[in-house]
Amino acid sequence: MAIVIPSLPYAEDALAPHISATTLEFHYGKHHNAYVVNINKLIEGTDLASEDLESIINKTAGDDSKTAIFNNAAQVWNHSFYWQCMKPNGGGLPTGDVAEKIDAAFGSYEKFIEQIKTAGTVQFGSGWAWLVLKDEQLQVMKTSNADTPIAHGLKPLLTVDVWEHAYYLDYQNRRPDYLSAFVENLINWDFVNSCLGTSGRK
Ligand code: MN
Repeated sequence: MAIVIPSLPYAEDALAPHISATTLEFHYGKHHNAYVVNINKLIEGTDLASEDLESIINKTAGDDSKTAIFNNAAQVWNHSFYWQCMKPNGGGLPTGDVAEKIDAAFGSYEKFIEQIKTAGTVQFGSGWAWLVLKDEQLQVMKTSNADTPIAHGLKPLLTVDVWEHAYYLDYQNRRPDYLSAFVENLINWDFVNSCLGTSGRK
Protein backbone atom coordinates (compact mmCIF):
# COMPACT_ATOMS: atom_id res chain seq x y z
CA MET A 1 0.00 0.00 0.00
CA ALA A 2 1.27 3.40 -0.88
CA ILE A 3 1.79 6.12 1.69
CA VAL A 4 -0.63 8.96 0.91
CA ILE A 5 -0.49 12.61 1.88
CA PRO A 6 -3.46 13.50 4.11
CA SER A 7 -5.60 16.49 3.14
CA LEU A 8 -4.85 19.72 4.95
CA PRO A 9 -7.49 20.12 7.71
CA TYR A 10 -8.15 23.73 6.52
CA ALA A 11 -7.76 25.86 3.40
CA GLU A 12 -4.25 27.00 2.43
CA ASP A 13 -5.13 30.60 3.32
CA ALA A 14 -6.88 29.74 6.61
CA LEU A 15 -3.90 30.38 8.91
CA ALA A 16 -3.06 33.80 7.46
CA PRO A 17 -1.71 36.23 8.46
CA HIS A 18 0.24 34.08 10.94
CA ILE A 19 1.22 31.55 8.26
CA SER A 20 0.56 32.70 4.70
CA ALA A 21 -1.13 30.78 1.91
CA THR A 22 2.18 30.95 0.03
CA THR A 23 4.01 29.23 2.88
CA LEU A 24 1.37 26.48 3.03
CA GLU A 25 1.37 26.12 -0.75
CA PHE A 26 5.10 25.37 -0.66
CA HIS A 27 5.34 23.67 2.74
CA TYR A 28 2.40 21.30 2.23
CA GLY A 29 2.22 21.17 -1.56
CA LYS A 30 5.95 20.90 -2.27
CA HIS A 31 7.96 19.93 0.83
CA HIS A 32 5.52 17.53 2.51
CA ASN A 33 4.47 16.11 -0.84
CA ALA A 34 8.11 15.48 -1.82
CA TYR A 35 8.66 13.41 1.34
CA VAL A 36 5.60 11.33 0.39
CA VAL A 37 6.83 10.80 -3.18
CA ASN A 38 10.31 9.91 -1.89
CA ILE A 39 9.20 7.39 0.74
CA ASN A 40 7.04 5.56 -1.80
CA LYS A 41 9.99 5.31 -4.21
CA LEU A 42 12.33 4.16 -1.43
CA ILE A 43 10.09 1.35 -0.12
CA GLU A 44 8.79 0.15 -3.48
CA GLY A 45 9.60 -3.54 -3.93
CA THR A 46 11.05 -3.89 -0.40
CA ASP A 47 9.64 -5.66 2.63
CA LEU A 48 8.68 -2.23 4.00
CA ALA A 49 6.22 -1.60 1.15
CA SER A 50 3.41 -3.31 3.04
CA GLU A 51 4.07 -1.55 6.36
CA ASP A 52 2.34 1.51 7.69
CA LEU A 53 4.23 4.73 8.33
CA GLU A 54 4.80 4.29 12.08
CA SER A 55 6.07 0.77 11.53
CA ILE A 56 8.47 1.96 8.80
CA ILE A 57 9.77 4.64 11.19
CA ASN A 58 10.27 2.20 14.04
CA LYS A 59 11.90 -0.45 11.83
CA THR A 60 14.44 1.98 10.33
CA ALA A 61 15.24 4.22 13.33
CA GLY A 62 18.93 4.04 14.22
CA ASP A 63 19.79 1.89 11.18
CA ASP A 64 22.58 3.68 9.31
CA SER A 65 21.83 1.74 6.12
CA LYS A 66 18.23 3.02 6.09
CA THR A 67 18.71 6.70 6.91
CA ALA A 68 16.96 7.98 3.77
CA ILE A 69 13.91 5.80 4.44
CA PHE A 70 13.76 6.90 8.07
CA ASN A 71 14.17 10.58 7.21
CA ASN A 72 11.45 10.63 4.58
CA ALA A 73 9.02 8.47 6.57
CA ALA A 74 9.51 10.52 9.73
CA GLN A 75 9.11 13.79 7.83
CA VAL A 76 5.82 12.54 6.33
CA TRP A 77 4.57 11.62 9.80
CA ASN A 78 5.79 14.82 11.48
CA HIS A 79 4.18 17.09 8.88
CA SER A 80 0.85 15.23 8.90
CA PHE A 81 0.85 15.67 12.68
CA TYR A 82 1.94 19.34 12.56
CA TRP A 83 -0.96 20.40 10.29
CA GLN A 84 -3.41 18.98 12.80
CA CYS A 85 -1.74 20.87 15.66
CA MET A 86 -2.95 24.17 14.17
CA LYS A 87 -6.30 25.76 13.36
CA PRO A 88 -7.57 29.22 12.44
CA ASN A 89 -8.17 31.32 15.58
CA GLY A 90 -6.35 28.79 17.73
CA GLY A 91 -3.69 29.33 20.36
CA GLY A 92 -3.98 30.97 23.73
CA LEU A 93 -4.99 29.21 26.90
CA PRO A 94 -5.42 25.44 26.73
CA THR A 95 -8.71 23.77 27.59
CA GLY A 96 -9.70 20.33 28.83
CA ASP A 97 -7.46 17.70 30.34
CA VAL A 98 -4.29 19.12 28.84
CA ALA A 99 -4.75 22.40 30.73
CA GLU A 100 -4.58 20.57 34.08
CA LYS A 101 -1.70 18.41 32.91
CA ILE A 102 0.27 21.48 31.80
CA ASP A 103 -0.17 23.12 35.20
CA ALA A 104 0.88 19.91 36.94
CA ALA A 105 3.98 19.39 34.78
CA PHE A 106 5.24 22.94 34.24
CA GLY A 107 3.67 24.98 37.05
CA SER A 108 1.69 27.21 34.73
CA TYR A 109 0.69 27.78 31.11
CA GLU A 110 3.19 30.66 30.92
CA LYS A 111 6.05 28.40 32.00
CA PHE A 112 5.05 25.79 29.43
CA ILE A 113 4.97 28.43 26.66
CA GLU A 114 8.39 29.65 27.71
CA GLN A 115 9.76 26.08 27.50
CA ILE A 116 8.32 25.22 24.10
CA LYS A 117 9.35 28.57 22.59
CA THR A 118 12.85 28.11 23.99
CA ALA A 119 13.04 24.55 22.63
CA GLY A 120 12.05 25.81 19.17
CA THR A 121 14.42 28.77 19.30
CA VAL A 122 17.55 26.96 20.49
CA GLN A 123 17.14 23.98 18.16
CA PHE A 124 20.27 24.49 16.04
CA GLY A 125 19.44 24.22 12.35
CA SER A 126 16.44 22.20 11.24
CA GLY A 127 14.14 20.33 13.56
CA TRP A 128 10.98 20.27 15.63
CA ALA A 129 9.81 21.31 19.11
CA TRP A 130 7.35 19.00 20.84
CA LEU A 131 5.03 18.46 23.77
CA VAL A 132 5.08 14.74 24.49
CA LEU A 133 3.76 12.29 27.02
CA LYS A 134 6.48 10.29 28.76
CA ASP A 135 5.51 7.91 31.56
CA GLU A 136 2.16 9.75 31.84
CA GLN A 137 3.99 13.07 32.36
CA LEU A 138 4.00 15.97 29.94
CA GLN A 139 7.43 16.98 28.72
CA VAL A 140 8.83 19.49 26.23
CA MET A 141 11.54 18.26 23.88
CA LYS A 142 13.17 19.10 20.56
CA THR A 143 14.35 16.83 17.76
CA SER A 144 16.84 17.46 14.96
CA ASN A 145 16.09 17.20 11.26
CA ALA A 146 13.53 14.42 10.72
CA ASP A 147 13.81 12.81 14.13
CA THR A 148 10.48 12.16 15.83
CA PRO A 149 9.38 11.21 19.37
CA ILE A 150 7.63 8.10 18.10
CA ALA A 151 11.06 6.66 17.25
CA HIS A 152 11.88 7.02 20.96
CA GLY A 153 8.73 5.42 22.34
CA LEU A 154 7.18 8.77 23.30
CA LYS A 155 3.64 9.92 22.56
CA PRO A 156 3.51 13.26 20.67
CA LEU A 157 0.79 15.69 21.74
CA LEU A 158 1.87 18.87 19.91
CA THR A 159 4.60 19.92 17.53
CA VAL A 160 5.92 22.99 15.78
CA ASP A 161 8.13 22.72 12.71
CA VAL A 162 11.23 24.92 13.03
CA TRP A 163 12.81 24.10 9.68
CA GLU A 164 13.38 27.38 7.83
CA HIS A 165 10.89 26.34 5.14
CA ALA A 166 8.16 26.54 7.80
CA TYR A 167 8.56 30.26 8.42
CA TYR A 168 11.11 31.93 6.17
CA LEU A 169 8.67 33.36 3.59
CA ASP A 170 6.66 35.02 6.38
CA TYR A 171 9.25 35.77 9.08
CA GLN A 172 12.67 35.46 7.37
CA ASN A 173 15.18 34.94 10.21
CA ARG A 174 12.71 35.80 12.98
CA ARG A 175 12.04 32.26 14.22
CA PRO A 176 10.96 33.51 17.69
CA ASP A 177 8.20 35.62 16.08
CA TYR A 178 6.92 32.56 14.22
CA LEU A 179 6.93 30.60 17.49
CA SER A 180 5.00 33.39 19.23
CA ALA A 181 2.40 33.42 16.44
CA PHE A 182 2.11 29.64 16.71
CA VAL A 183 1.41 29.63 20.46
CA GLU A 184 -0.75 32.76 20.51
CA ASN A 185 -2.84 32.21 17.39
CA LEU A 186 -2.57 28.70 15.96
CA ILE A 187 -2.40 25.82 18.47
CA ASN A 188 -5.38 23.48 18.17
CA TRP A 189 -5.90 22.47 21.81
CA ASP A 190 -8.84 20.23 20.85
CA PHE A 191 -6.42 18.16 18.79
CA VAL A 192 -3.89 18.09 21.64
CA ASN A 193 -6.61 16.82 23.97
CA SER A 194 -7.62 14.17 21.44
CA CYS A 195 -4.00 12.94 21.41
CA LEU A 196 -4.01 12.72 25.20
CA GLY A 197 -7.06 10.47 24.87
CA THR A 198 -7.88 8.17 27.73
CA SER A 199 -4.33 8.37 29.06
CA GLY A 200 -4.98 12.01 29.89
CA ARG A 201 -8.07 11.39 31.97
CA LYS A 202 -8.13 11.06 35.71
MN1 MN B 1 8.45 21.26 7.31
